[in-house]
Amino acid sequence: LPRVLSGIQPTAGSFHLGNYLGALRQWVALQDTAEAFYCVVDQHAITMDWDPEELRRNTLVSAAQLLALGVDPQRSSLFVQSHVPEHVQLSWVLECLARFGEASRMTQFKDKSQREGAGGSSVGLFTYPVLQAADILVYQADEVPVGEDQRQHLELTRDLATRFNGRFGDTFTVPAARIPQGAAKILDLQSPEKKMSKSLPPAGCVFLLDDPRVTAKKIRSAVTDTGREVVADPVGKPGVTNLLAIHSALSGRSVTELEEHFAGRGYGDLKKELAEVVLEFVTPVRARTQELLDDRAELERLLASGAARAREVAGQTVRTAYERVGFLPPV
Ligand code: ATP
Ligand code: MG
Repeated sequence: LPRVLSGIQPTAGSFHLGNYLGALRQWVALQDTAEAFYCVVDQHAITMDWDPEELRRNTLVSAAQLLALGVDPQRSSLFVQSHVPEHVQLSWVLECLARFGEASRMTQFKDKSQREGAGGSSVGLFTYPVLQAADILVYQADEVPVGEDQRQHLELTRDLATRFNGRFGDTFTVPAARIPQGAAKILDLQSPEKKMSKSLPPAGCVFLLDDPRVTAKKIRSAVTDTGREVVADPVGKPGVTNLLAIHSALSGRSVTELEEHFAGRGYGDLKKELAEVVLEFVTPVRARTQELLDDRAELERLLASGAARAREVAGQTVRTAYERVGFLPPV
């Protein structure tokens, strides 16, 4: 079986539709055909300002949501990044192979560092893609299911793996990105020129755990375009196209079919129906997440067993990599 690794930040507590349609839906689907390692990347969540109590809470909420969405701990290893110290151990070696210039070219770093205040951005925000490379390489992953926005980071991961292998001998599998078609990039409802993101103002971001009334309101208030016809046109009508893409991804009906369905009707009808489609999807996910959170001991037990399985694989990789770079093995 091919091996798959992916991670998601617990920063906002709730995941959003972009996370689900761009990445998490594939996590669930891949469990049938791959050996999967899925983690809540809490260490990535401290690269920008954070609150410790909130981080702890959001880590649990994230794990519960993943289970509610269909990650199955019998078939996949689900764990918390900080429970597997091998990620950081490998990351140091990769940091010493990565070049300052290549890390400086990461567009997410440029975007996010601009949003930081007068204190400037952390060194962790800068080296974050290298830790992400370690997250992936430490499992010898063949594939990484992610959204379109992660393509550049995946390219860096591949470069670092290739560089290490070239210098120290074949050690790492060079992973491929697995980016879904159609829903690879869900756009913000208020600023449809940007990707939907938890780091933008919440009005444009549909969180899975939002109150149903909030969800309906966000969709009703989505920015649409001039004209009145419900047709997909990424350049002329990015807002409407995005709403159609979300509808199509959740309802399973093609965009062409939806254009016919909405022929002669307006944007209001599209939004009303989309709100129904979204609520039908999120309502059971919310309920299940709450149930799982109600039994915290069981949730923590699942995460501990996922981490134990992950450490078996990750420990082996770190031992090999440390030996190859010349660290004296501890006896
Ligand atoms: P941030 O904007 O702070 O980076 P995020 O919303 O991108 O947060 P992440 O935890 O960084 O959340 O991403 C988790 C996964 O969701 C990644 O695989 C990423 O590619 C995917 N993803 C995030 N936003 C979108 C989006 N708008 N459309 C499709 N996929 C997305
Ligand atoms: Mg992101």
